[in-house]
Amino acid sequence: MNINGNNTESFTIENKNLKNIPIENPLHKDAFAFDDEVKIQLIRQKFEEILHIIGLDLKDDSIKETPHRIAKMYINEVFSGLNPKNRPEITLFKNTYEYNSPLLELNIPFTSFCEHHFVPIVGLANIAYIPNEYVIGLSKLHRLTNYYAKRPQVQERLTKQIHQDLKNLLKTENVGVVLKATHGCISCRGVEDSGSSTISSAISGKIKDDVVTNSKLFGL
Ligand SMILES: [Zn+2]
Repeated sequence: MNINGNNTESFTIENKNLKNIPIENPLHKDAFAFDDEVKIQLIRQKFEEILHIIGLDLKDDSIKETPHRIAKMYINEVFSGLNPKNRPEITLFKNTYEYNSPLLELNIPFTSFCEHHFVPIVGLANIAYIPNEYVIGLSKLHRLTNYYAKRPQVQERLTKQIHQDLKNLLKTENVGVVLKATHGCISCRGVEDSGSSTISSAISGKIKDDVVTNSKLFGL
């Protein structure tokens, strides 16, 4: 479906949405006191120490830039979703065509990081909603999923954050979010069970009793 079709009106939603979410990641009050560049330098120094303690020779050509690479990756990529300034701009459109069936966006890929072990959680998100007054650009469902994924996370919280934010944005209870993911902390340490996956869901409103939509959502 082309969301841009006949709509001339659009609305930009700001960060205020986050304030309504009681399921935020635990951050200390000075979380963003330093600029990103300062954070990268500080993390680089700490990682040099960690690699040295592990026993690696930081003069080695292949390794010497690793602390800087990790620092940049943390701040600019894999944990960039912690900083509200990186929240994607979400544009909504008036539902002028009065579309009122479930709309599903399936197999949205995401990579997050387990906050207990700092190893990847790799998965797919399925999202459904029934529009009220507004519809959302489909790519924004991808961007919003990845904004919340780019944090140290537990899958349950990630699921609820996406669900809650969409309910707030779209001003409807009719939202379903299902995530299926594999956790590095299961596959590469501990029980070392590769091939298992974890499914989490947050489903509300009319989507809850919609058997067809639920079967699609859980058909990951
Ligand atoms: Zn873990």
